[in-house]
Amino acid sequence: MMKTDFDATRRAFDLPEGMIYLDGNSLGPLPTAVRERLARTVSEEWGEMLIGGWNRAGWMGLPRRVGDRIAGLIGAEPGTVVVGDTLSIKVYQALASALEMNPSRKVILSDTGNFPSDLYIAGGLARTLGPDYELRLAAPGDLAAALDETVAVLLVTEVDYRTGYRHDMAALTARAHALGILTIWDLAHSAGALPVKLAACKADFAVGCTYKYLNSGPGGPAFIYVAPRHIDHARPALSGWMGHESPFAFDLDYRPGRGIERMRVGTPPILQLAALDAALDVWDGVDIEDVRARSLELGDLFVSEVEAGCPELVLATPRAHGERGSQISFRHPEGYAIMQALIDEGVVGDFRAPDILRFGFTPLYVGLDDVRRAAQILVGIMAGRRWDKAAYRRPAGAVVT
Ligand SMILES: *Cc1c(COP(=O)(O)O)cnc(C)c1O
Repeated sequence: MMKTDFDATRRAFDLPEGMIYLDGNSLGPLPTAVRERLARTVSEEWGEMLIGGWNRAGWMGLPRRVGDRIAGLIGAEPGTVVVGDTLSIKVYQALASALEMNPSRKVILSDTGNFPSDLYIAGGLARTLGPDYELRLAAPGDLAAALDETVAVLLVTEVDYRTGYRHDMAALTARAHALGILTIWDLAHSAGALPVKLAACKADFAVGCTYKYLNSGPGGPAFIYVAPRHIDHARPALSGWMGHESPFAFDLDYRPGRGIERMRVGTPPILQLAALDAALDVWDGVDIEDVRARSLELGDLFVSEVEAGCPELVLATPRAHGERGSQISFRHPEGYAIMQALIDEGVVGDFRAPDILRFGFTPLYVGLDDVRRAAQILVGIMAGRRWDKAAYRRPAGAVVT
């Protein structure tokens, strides 16, 4: 029995009439509570309190308070998550700290399915640290086999942003630990999408963004988790004043703050944090196990309807529930044009080069009827070749978001 009332959660979002939104894995829609909260934060807090808002409105403590709310969604202990900056920055912080904790080894291991920004950050950090350091990549299915005693840190995005393949966090973490390797889990496509059990899996570090499945809005801040056993040893490489033990002492020497506070860097983005805080209200009364069960049901329905009606689309996502996240991807050489046609007909997914059509399933505001209708429209577009128009062809050098 589902405990979650998905009709109620759907009413908590402002969705454009007539649009079926299957892109919440890229940018979540607007929760109505965010509109109200932002208006209030702007006029009553910023507008009236000005600088006094840091104390009177509790702005200073917001990164931790919101971090604790996220901790509840990712199986983390209270006091282990803090919010701020962007995910790319949080990847850098986690990697720099983890590498320093395993100083005799110089290899960062990741996989070719990881999101490029994570790999660019890792490669850039390796270059900064010197010629001994190396970013090593394995194929997504070969990560376990690629773990060995030369590896310092394993950096994995739990759910592959293109294919939706889900790595086994418990098994990979256990194998890494047995070989003396620290783990960093990127939860960009996991937080708010499926049950994550950081503490139970003994993950060392985790990072993630909030503008995807947590609906904080464009540019919403990221989060970082450090396991309690590491937090007092993890040295923050980005040692900004907000992560200092006592920011307002204005000491010349840096001393890391207590616990997860040390992973703060600079002034927190209060408006975006307020939006995130309000967006998290949607989760009150929601059981993430229900979200997972419904998301798999939506995904299964989409796969069966699309495979029945569009034999030329090739499923890129594993069928096994345990091996996938909350998205379904299909491959087609004309994927770009097909996605443009879909968007024109009110079904919003996205395209990822070279040939992936990607659809995110977010039960908080997407239901079975939406999925049936989206599949029907896709079947119609394929059968009638409605994608085959000059206007839908990919312009050379286009920015595809
Ligand atoms: C979305 C995403 C990012 C984006 O990073 P930003 O710094 O927020 O732009 C990074 N990594 C992964 C795995 C992602 O899915």
